Amino acid sequence: MNILGLISRNFRRDPATYRYPERHVPATRFRGIVRNDTAKCIACGICDHVCVSGAIVVVGHDDHCDWSYDPGRCTFCGRCVDLCPGEALSQDGDRAPTYARSGDLAQGEQITYPACPECGLPARPYNERLLMIAHDDISPEFRERIKLCERCRRRRSQTVLTKGLGGAADTERNADGA
Ligand code: SF4
Ligand code: SF4
Repeated sequence: MNILGLISRNFRRDPATYRYPERHVPATRFRGIVRNDTAKCIACGICDHVCVSGAIVVVGHDDHCDWSYDPGRCTFCGRCVDLCPGEALSQDGDRAPTYARSGDLAQGEQITYPACPECGLPARPYNERLLMIAHDDISPEFRERIKLCERCRRRRSQTVLTKGLGGAADTERNADGA
């Protein structure tokens, strides 16, 4: 077909593009934009670490963590969803809305840390599933200790250690005296 034939054919055709805000329906297997169920998020930062496009950024603070996601940078690969230990992330099948400038779609969530049962100060959230991956067997004492803030956990560990060493020294003294 010569160039004139091509131009004439294109004139007779309907437009191939969509007029904003109409959008192409995503393919059925399209994974879609990422959502965070913050109630399940343990602020571990793994999603930030595995996201090669830098769409997720997790910044920890003393009493909370800022989780942000920019669908404009996301490649919808699903890596963060697959590796999220809290099963907090999911993809909803929708594509990112139209945007004009980089960063326009960025959205943030705040994950507030729960209070330490011993001193009431913020303690890093923990997740049962992650615990089970890291440890085969979890004692009730360990389960209780994991809920504490870092300071109380350290203090509890020191107490246990001191008691253990004291017990060992007592045993040695008793053995010498016998
Ligand atoms: S729990 Fe999931 S969403 Fe929360 S920081 Fe960790 S990987 Fe990201
Ligand atoms: S789906 Fe992929 S690109 Fe998008 S936020 Fe998750 S890891 Fe990053």
